Parts: sequence; C-alpha cells; structure tokens
Amino acid sequence: MWLLTAIAIVAAIGIHFWWRARFQREQAAWRAELSRRDAHEQAAVAETSARQDALFDSMIEGVLVLDEKDQIRFANQTFAEIFATTGILRGKALLDAVRSHEVAAIVERTRTESRVIDHELKLPGEQDRWLRINSAAITDARRRKLGIILVFHDLTRLKRLERTREEFVANVSHELRTPLSLIKGYTETLLDGARNNPEVAERFLQIIERNTQRLDLLIQDLLTISALESGRTKLDLQPVNLHSLVEKVVNFLQTKADSKNVKLVNELPELMANADANRLDQVLANLVDNAIKYGRAEGCVTIGGKILTDSRLEIFVRDDGPGIPSESLDRVFERFYRVDKARSRDQGGTGLGLAIVKHIVQAHGGEVRCESELGKGATFFFTLPCEPTPSFD
Ligand code: ADP
Repeated sequence: MWLLTAIAIVAAIGIHFWWRARFQREQAAWRAELSRRDAHEQAAVAETSARQDALFDSMIEGVLVLDEKDQIRFANQTFAEIFATTGILRGKALLDAVRSHEVAAIVERTRTESRVIDHELKLPGEQDRWLRINSAAITDARRRKLGIILVFHDLTRLKRLERTREEFVANVSHELRTPLSLIKGYTETLLDGARNNPEVAERFLQIIERNTQRLDLLIQDLLTISALESGRTKLDLQPVNLHSLVEKVVNFLQTKADSKNVKLVNELPELMANADANRLDQVLANLVDNAIKYGRAEGCVTIGGKILTDSRLEIFVRDDGPGIPSESLDRVFERFYRVDKARSRDQGGTGLGLAIVKHIVQAHGGEVRCESELGKGATFFFTLPCEPTPSFD
C-alpha cells in the first residue's frame, strides 16, 4: 500500500514539474510573439511617418502643424526654406520659428473662426517675400480641438512677374503716347488752318511722318520681343559664315555711317557659327546701328571676334564714342532703359534694341556683355556656339 502511495506522490510531483516547464515555455513563446508584433507595429508606424514626411517634404507649399499651445508638431522642408529656419523645429514655439506677428494673428483667427482662406501677406526682411496662407483647425471625431494646420504658398515670383508686367505696360503706354500726341497735335493744327500755308504744312507733315515711323518701329520691336519672350520663336540653326554676314550688315548701314563720317571696319575672320542667320543679322545690325548712333561723328566702328576654348566663339562691336557709365553697363540690356533718354529719342530709338539682342543671343545659348570706359568708347560682346564639326562615324 505504502508503495502505491509513494508511486502516486512521485507521479504527481513529476506531472507538476512537467506542467510547470510547459507553462513557462508557452509563456516565453507568447512573450516573444508579443514583442515581435510590437516591433513589427513600431516599424510600420515609423515607415508610415517617414512616408508622410517624404510626401510633405516634396510639396512646393510650406506646411506647419501646431498643437493647442502653439508649439510646432510638424513643419516640412519648404516651410523651413520660406522662413529661413534651421535646426529641429518640433517642440519650438511658433513665434520662435516664424517671427511674424501677422502669422501669429492668423493662428489666433483660426482658433476662433476654424479656418482662414487665402490671406496674403508680405514678410518683413531685406527682400520682398509674399505669401498666401490657408489655415484650418484640426479636431478629432468628438470635435475636440487638437491644433492648427497652416499651408503657405510662396507668391514672390508671381508678384515680381506681376510688377514687371505692370511696369512694361506703363512703359509701353508712355512710349506710345508721345508720338501719338505729336501726331494728334500737328494734325489738328493742320486742320485748323495751317494746311493753307504750304511751307508750314510741309514741315508739319514731315513731323507726322517721323512719328508714324517711330510708332511703326516701336510696334515691330514690341512684337519681336513678345515673340522672343514667349518662346514662340523657333531658331533655324545653320552653319553661318560670320565674315560675310557682317559684310552684309556693313553694306546695309554704310549710308547711315557716311552721314556721320563714321568708318565701319569688318575685322572678323572667316569663322563659322551654328546660328539662325536672320536673327544674327538682327543682333549685328542693332549693335552696329547703336555704335553709329551713339558713337562719335568721324569715329570708327570695328566688328571682330575669335574662337574661345570651349567650342564657342565671341564677337564684338566696338566704337570710340563717349562710352557708357559703369552703373549703366548691366542695365542697358533692360527693356526701355536708356542712358540718355533725349538722345535716344532724337535718334529714333525705341529702347528695346539691346533687350532684343540679349534675347536672341540667349536663345542661341550665348551671353551678352558690355565693357566701356567713359570718353573712350563702348564694346559689346556676345558669344555663340561654333558650327559643330561633322562626324563621319
Ligand atoms: P535705343 O533704341 O534707345 O537705342 P537700345 O536698347 O538699343 O535702345 O540701347 C539702350 C541704351 O543704351 C541707349 O538708349 C543708349 O543710351 C545706350 N547705348 C547703346 N549702345 C551704345 C553705345 N554704343 N554707346 C553708348 N551708349 C549706348
């Protein structure tokens, strides 16, 4: 009997230890499974958040998310660029990152009105920076307020374009008004009786004709510049013999040069360029015409050039006139910029010639520049690609 009892006790102890070991094994396996699931979930959350960050960082708009205490929860890369902030933004107070009380006011308005749409503002700073801001309150399913999201669109480029366009329209109107009012004035005087005096009538009609020509030139130049700026102009690139092209331009402008006793010298070697011959003709004619107009009477205008090292060539048009002041050297290529307004108008200039030259040269992939020393003349340079060497493979 005692033997049976002893066997039962040993069996019970054995079962207990076996059961405990199994239980511990299962618990360990369960814990391992839990931590594996945890790690998996964490990795999934990290991946989603990285994807979200990448998505927000690829946006051209700045995005800022604030919590209820106006502390930054999230800011994308464009936001940091717009406000020129560096370092970690998360956790910073709004005004430490943005330093604009107008933005802080928009945040306040969003708290009371839930959203602010298309608010435009100019950021303080050395350079004008324009922004359009849209903001909205963030709430959860139970309408509890969690924070605010703000989206910033950078309007600076658009505003600049708008200003350039407005200036251009104002300049064009001004340029058109002068010859038009002269034409109108002289026509009215003729109609009022001046036509009865043949000498006076002849003089007035000549003034009217001169101003009509000026209007015509201005409109032609405006059409050219608008076509060049819109990119509608297709270049007809061909091998062009530069010496012959300059010879043609010199012949065309010879009478004008003779009227001022100006000598035109074609020093250009027999270089070949890959260019649109008609457009290049326009560039050279504008530069040589300016050199005659603004150079000195009895002076000399030289056209020359050479091959540069990087398969480009450089052409120059040089005069020995009064030259251009250094502060105007870059500005002469702007539309309607004139060093001496009265002189330019006297010479029938539209103020668009060098802007057209710059556009045509840039369309060829080249650059323009001007060098001058007051009293010693001005030299205009431009580069062009050389004619590509034919390949025989
Ligand atoms: P414009 O129709 O007035 O000649 P451009 O665009 O051709 O217009 O030239 C702009 C201005 O640059 C001119 O008004 C003139 O003041 C100046 N300029 C151009 N070429 C010369 C030059 N060779 N010498 C001195 N000034 C020049």
